[in-house]
Amino acid sequence: MKTSIATVCLGGTLAEKLEAIAAARFDAVEIFENDLVTFSGTPADVRRAAGDLGLGIATLQPFRDFEGMPEGQRARAFARAERKFDVMQELGCDLLMVCSNVAPESLGGIDRAAADLHELGERAARRGLRVAFEALAWGRHISDYRDAWEAVRRAAHPAVGLVLDTFHILARRTDLAAIRAIPADRIFLVQIADAPVLQMDYLSWSRHYRSFPGQGDFPLVDFMQALAATGYDDVLSLEIFNDEFRAGSARSLAVDGQRALRFLFDQLQERRIVVASAPRLPPRATVSATAFIEFALDDAHAAAFEHILAGLGFRRAGQHRSKAVTRWQQGGINMVVNREKEGFAHSFNIVHGSAVCALGLRVNDAAATFERARLLLDQPFHQAVRPGELDIPAIRGVGGSLLYFLDDAGPLAHVWDIEFDDTGDQVQDAGLVRVDHIAQSMQYEEMLSWLLFYTSLLDLQKIAPQDVPDPGGLVRSQVIESADGALRIVLNASQSRRTQASRFLHEFFGSGVQHVALATADMMQTVAQLERNGIGLLEIPENYYEDLEAKSELGPARTAELKRHNILYDREGDAEYLQVYLRPFGHFFFEIVERRGYRGYGAANAPVRLAAQARLASTPGD
Ligand code: MG
Ligand code: MG
Repeated sequence: MKTSIATVCLGGTLAEKLEAIAAARFDAVEIFENDLVTFSGTPADVRRAAGDLGLGIATLQPFRDFEGMPEGQRARAFARAERKFDVMQELGCDLLMVCSNVAPESLGGIDRAAADLHELGERAARRGLRVAFEALAWGRHISDYRDAWEAVRRAAHPAVGLVLDTFHILARRTDLAAIRAIPADRIFLVQIADAPVLQMDYLSWSRHYRSFPGQGDFPLVDFMQALAATGYDDVLSLEIFNDEFRAGSARSLAVDGQRALRFLFDQLQERRIVVASAPRLPPRATVSATAFIEFALDDAHAAAFEHILAGLGFRRAGQHRSKAVTRWQQGGINMVVNREKEGFAHSFNIVHGSAVCALGLRVNDAAATFERARLLLDQPFHQAVRPGELDIPAIRGVGGSLLYFLDDAGPLAHVWDIEFDDTGDQVQDAGLVRVDHIAQSMQYEEMLSWLLFYTSLLDLQKIAPQDVPDPGGLVRSQVIESADGALRIVLNASQSRRTQASRFLHEFFGSGVQHVALATADMMQTVAQLERNGIGLLEIPENYYEDLEAKSELGPARTAELKRHNILYDREGDAEYLQVYLRPFGHFFFEIVERRGYRGYGAANAPVRLAAQARLASTPGD
């Protein structure tokens, strides 16, 4: 299958779009007429530019309000088509995309549409061109691909074929079975788009909320499976109308598009349907744990931060043999404090200040994960490795941070023994056992991009996003997690500039990890140890506990105990969730949670926590 993307998906000038599309390794491009109209050169210049970049031109679109026009207007519709054919010949593009008529004056009737398409096919064929017909979900008379196919079939002309566009088909929840019966050579173009399921009119939904495959809720793998049954092996083109996409970088958006297609082909291959031209990817990686979290700090901040780690019950377990890097360990948690004066972590610290600069994930096969990432066009990261150090496979993640992959085979299983000297230090731990979740704040328009990044590479599921009220506006929260909870990532973003998530981006100079939640098996024991160690917790207002006592069955004694320790509480059925927050360290903070069968993230408590943090941030002297 040839991969293509419509110029309408991307922002920038036509020249910038074509370069971005070619760099993302697409075979072809759909030219939107608006891009031609605003282009300073001629269609022949576009043809040359695309040709120089090795891009074919899959289609020119759109051609609107054509079929079923009453006499008088019908002649004008054909005259308009002839002018499009002129442009196409200059462009070197042989396919015109015709969308079903929305004009109130248009007339219904499959035979009338078929007759018009037949004549259009005649005219196109005289010039060696073709036309393809698409049912818009909001078409006046034809809004279903099965009717569009019937019109094409009855047009009975070799230059007339069908367009299948997943948005128009799946927005209406049209049955996919009829696709299997369409001969592959009658399908001239397939356009693919995902979208979230929304209650909205089709036109607004289509024009603003389309997204790349895997970023929405549509059953695109089922669609592709039905398409595969026809034997179709021609152009598969991304046609995404999305305001945030057009506001973003054309280069990274085009790469996201190619990544989305490769992931889609990969999911088909999981169903044993082979897409001949698609790269074969190693399977999605299974993550068994967060192996480590690395912080980039300067000397002064490192001392203060290590004081907090010690207060949290971490043991200074290892000193790197050749670098200013220490390992802090408790239960299955490893924190790496990097105070090097050169290299990646140092540059990261210069830009962002004290920050999480890398995450280490324990996966089933680190080399295969890295290879999958490479084939998904993720960005590999390499840094000079000194003698006695391991070359740990790594790629770029959110905000330029790193994602390292470790596994249980070979030297990667022994990184702490190979690179670090054990200090022999012993301390009383605080019962923290593992990393529960990692929260990353980002620009609103980046969320779909990182969602695709994580879910295409790792075996993670997304859960429905939630909007959490912050004192400064709404924050959108998107959870991605593995089925067993071994890795849980929360992506946060906000369109308001006054929320905590947005202030983080501004003050941090970019996207990154804003908080890490650590799991305890016994919250009461953990908070008691933290209090002994002099670790201050975020103060939760009394009203929270009055409200909690009123609406829960906890009773006064238990509520009072939660209040004494500033513990937030949530319940789902019989499952319980306990949370405390540390006071922030710069822009970063720790959370500690205890899950008693609970699967969520305490969304009901998030507004209380955000308000408490906002209050703390505005207190003079803090
Ligand atoms: Mg379309
Ligand atoms: Mg949290």
